[in-house]
Amino acid sequence: MDIIKFGIEKILYPLMEAKRGNHVRANTKVLLASERLSLHDLKSLREERLRRLLLHCVEHVPAYRQYKELVPQIVTDPFTALTNFPVLTKDAFRMDPESFIADDADRSTLIANNSGGSSGHPVQFYMNRHTVEYYEAARWRGLSWYGITPGSRSLLIWGNPFELDKMAERRYRLTERYLKNRRIIPAYALDPAAMPEHVRLFNSYRPEYIYGYAGAIALFARLMKEQGLQLKHRLKAVVSTSETLQPWQRELMEEVFQAPVVNEYGARDGGIIAYQCPEGGMHLSAENLVAEVIDLLTGELLPAGERGLLLVTDLNNFVQPRLRYQLGDEVIMSDQLCSCGRTLPLLAEVCGREDDIFVTADGQFVHGVAFANCIKRLPEVDAFQIIQLSPTEAKVLLVTRDGLEPPGLDGVKADYQALLPGAKITYQLVDAIPPSPSGKTRYAIRQFPLENTR
Ligand SMILES: [Zn+2]
Repeated sequence: MDIIKFGIEKILYPLMEAKRGNHVRANTKVLLASERLSLHDLKSLREERLRRLLLHCVEHVPAYRQYKELVPQIVTDPFTALTNFPVLTKDAFRMDPESFIADDADRSTLIANNSGGSSGHPVQFYMNRHTVEYYEAARWRGLSWYGITPGSRSLLIWGNPFELDKMAERRYRLTERYLKNRRIIPAYALDPAAMPEHVRLFNSYRPEYIYGYAGAIALFARLMKEQGLQLKHRLKAVVSTSETLQPWQRELMEEVFQAPVVNEYGARDGGIIAYQCPEGGMHLSAENLVAEVIDLLTGELLPAGERGLLLVTDLNNFVQPRLRYQLGDEVIMSDQLCSCGRTLPLLAEVCGREDDIFVTADGQFVHGVAFANCIKRLPEVDAFQIIQLSPTEAKVLLVTRDGLEPPGLDGVKADYQALLPGAKITYQLVDAIPPSPSGKTRYAIRQFPLENTR
């Protein structure tokens, strides 16, 4: 028996609920109760929540007061009314975050958070416990689909050195072990020689699931495979978060861990946006948010099946509401229903970040994945990053095992030149690739805005 799991679920959570009014487990139950509602009932529930939020915004949020004339439409048809509010980019929000704070918000209860902006400038925003507890509930609902509960033993394979430093500051080891029942393997600059020790920890600790950045878990899996290391027990799930999970990463994880690989799609400034169910459907957290997709260049709303920028309206943030907030991710919505029976709408695809998309000199788009797919042909390359400085200039950073130029590089160079015709591309061997200011490792970065490129 896992005594810490017992302690967390039978003592710690009930105590937090009684003493601090924690609602995470109650909210998880609420979400579980609505995931199989009829489409009609689910729509009414969301309509009611959106109506409340929009009425609150025009009444109490300075940035939205000018939209008071929408009240009659908000009352009769809040989904259509929402489309009459402006799209909110991170840059626009950053100009005047104060104007988004509701005049009736209790400032003593605001929780500050920040996320990496498109050019690395962090965006600071506020929420309160109600918001956070619904974010957490959406995660626990998703994990519950795999038999995982808040006390379940987990192993974090974490790739973010900055966050690890923060956890260390908070003396994470004790809280992590006894209050969260998890251990951490720092996977930033993972040392291949330490792998047998990591896998030994794994096999003695026997976590129910792994949780971490896609890139970090994939690197861990690759080193396990190369060194012939194996797990001695069955995991309930391998949960990949924060970075876009690439198909090749999923394949590798499934092969090495022999467990379902679950894609968690979340954002610090948007909560848990979607969770993958055991049938493979990426279900939107539809009770928590309204998602819309717009065209990259024209800003027009797109129907299901078309790729565009995701806009998120968080239905639980009444202290600093951001309507139609453009997260910077590209997605495709689906109009199909999932075979699992849950009626929560599906994302057909989470394509990646908008600034992972490159633009050629003649205005075509090339997704960063194309560059990653070419580099996979070079087994000597441990890490790489391509940075597009302008439509006609890019640089590639390579980390190789022996510090030498890989023999097959000329072929990759030819492919890159074909992907970015007319561009000057330079190549540089480096010792390591630093993570971005948000802590995520990114392999494709466009350093100029998409506007003005066409
Ligand atoms: Zn499903």
